[in-house]
Amino acid sequence: MLHDEHPPEGPDNEPSPRRPRARRASMNVFGQLSSILAVSAVLATMFTAFTPLGLLPAGLTEWIAAQLNNDAAASNSFPTPTPRPRPVIGIVAGHWGNDSGAVCSDGLTEVEVNLDVATRVQEKLTRAGFDVDLLQEYDDKLEGYNALVLVSIHADTCEYVDDNATGFKVASSLASSAPEKAQRLVACLSNRYQAATGLRYQPSNITAHMSNYHTFNEINHNTTAAIIETGFLNLDRQLLTQNSDQVAEGIAQGVLCYIYNESATTPEGTN
Ligand SMILES: [Zn+2]
Repeated sequence: MLHDEHPPEGPDNEPSPRRPRARRASMNVFGQLSSILAVSAVLATMFTAFTPLGLLPAGLTEWIAAQLNNDAAASNSFPTPTPRPRPVIGIVAGHWGNDSGAVCSDGLTEVEVNLDVATRVQEKLTRAGFDVDLLQEYDDKLEGYNALVLVSIHADTCEYVDDNATGFKVASSLASSAPEKAQRLVACLSNRYQAATGLRYQPSNITAHMSNYHTFNEINHNTTAAIIETGFLNLDRQLLTQNSDQVAEGIAQGVLCYIYNESATTPEGTN
């Protein structure tokens, strides 16, 4: 279940998740190589000049040693690069910190189901090497939030609607500055979620409400974002509560599929 909407804003920048240290290392190697070459050139010149006498001028070896030491000192004193943080993924536990979301007659709430799943997704993606923010529905961090991916986790109503009220839905942001990326995230999430849970994709009722989900309008529009309704608390309750690790695995695999550019087909009815 979802919250109210806000108008979209303009685009911003996106960080690159590429390895940051390789370039620094190769520059240091290059710098040291240059110094060695420079010293070699001086040596060659000096040997050319003085070899007939079989002598090095007084102080030359000291000068060379000093140059090498200076170089070593310079490279040691070079500012240590601040390690860039690992790529960030945001996981919103739907309704967390705000309200209960859908409520079942026996007191089970959507928010507790969402938080359980979201916490497991965070653990899985952290193990996969990412910094994962577990976020509340209206988390302060969401304003201008900059990440590789943001996924908001919700579940559908606990009311019995009809026998078709089973399955999951995924929608991306209409405000995304890169709709093809958002579309790929939807494809990855849907594909991997279906594989992990066996739930069917529920194409009906992907409303403007989902695509205009308030969080999509708060975050940096270069953050690729999607919302998933993991299932219906009524007919899919067993999966959502007893097999929540499977549910989380599907979402985590969907996020990794997107980040690593894996192929995934888009189910019919996604937007
Ligand atoms: Zn909800």
